[in-house]
Amino acid sequence: LMRLYGPINQLSSMQATVMTALVSFDRVFEVLDLEPNIAERPGARDLADARPAAGSGEAPDITFEGVSFRYPSGDEAALASLGPAGGDRPGGADEAWTLQNLDFHAPAGKLTALVGPSGAGKTTITQLVPRLYDPDRGTVRIAGQDVRDLTLQSLRDTIGVVTQDAHLFHDTLRANLEYARPGASEQELIDACEAALIWDTVRALPDGLDTLVGDRGYRLSGGEKQRIALARLLLKAPSVVVLDEATAHLDSDSEAAIQRALKTALAGRTSLVIAHRLSTIREADRILVVEAGQIREQGTHKELLAADGLYAALYRTQFAQDEPLEEAAVLDPA
Ligand code: ATP
Repeated sequence: LMRLYGPINQLSSMQATVMTALVSFDRVFEVLDLEPNIAERPGARDLADARPAAGSGEAPDITFEGVSFRYPSGDEAALASLGPAGGDRPGGADEAWTLQNLDFHAPAGKLTALVGPSGAGKTTITQLVPRLYDPDRGTVRIAGQDVRDLTLQSLRDTIGVVTQDAHLFHDTLRANLEYARPGASEQELIDACEAALIWDTVRALPDGLDTLVGDRGYRLSGGEKQRIALARLLLKAPSVVVLDEATAHLDSDSEAAIQRALKTALAGRTSLVIAHRLSTIREADRILVVEAGQIREQGTHKELLAADGLYAALYRTQFAQDEPLEEAAVLDPA
């Protein structure tokens, strides 16, 4: 376990520098378009058609079955650009897999949190769901359907991705929000901002929603940008959310506001969250503890603490200081 402490310390030192922003799926898929080995199969179906209760508004579940993955080396990336990959890649025992034989189920409409040291593979896991990469072995399913059998458009419509790459386009706030739902009405924009607890800030700006933001515009604080990202998520209203939670330390007001906004944004959605905050982990219906590309433990916060394994160790080093004193004492009787 001592091996973990270095990465955990590194993680905390990164915390001041990173912010969350919603990456537009169009942009994500622009990148995808450059990945010739991510191709839509002939006869691919729309996810809505594939869902058992189509039209019921129910969120789909996500399943990983025996998923292994490694990032293509330079040579393979070049080869891949010549045409689609043909099936499972062979892998020798000496190969370093980024993800190794992952099995897990993220239940429909529930929050599944991924925790673990830096470099464990958490981000990579979340990237396989919207098919930024495909696994080398095994299957990723949404609503029971292999994601490779679904149209990229329907995946794009179903999944909202919030990453840590802070980005507001140099444009008005309105344009930044409408990007998530083209043709949104004024009231829809306001409702999303209210639910994301950013409306009071926006309406107080000299030009309100028409304020120019981005590098050369009005500088929003980190916490404000995160809430704009959540407003975008609410406008997009995807049934699946993949979120890399912000690690930036915010003042406690923004912190509390973001937690409340996050709760609204994730309610009823199937979410896969790389969690950096104890409050999120405690809310999680399921926690996956990832280390060295493998899922070492799964369970709820309470179950995993009781198991006194890797999660309990991570918790003590990374999160226990956030815990109210009396609870920490109960959880850690030593
Ligand atoms: P962190 O908490 O620091 O974000 P993580 O658990 O999300 O870490 P990943 O980002 O998934 O971990 O990285 C898993 C491993 O894959 C690391 O060894 C990393 O260096 C490697 N890796 C990540 N992205 C790429 C890439 N595009 N090409 C090659 N290797 C990569």
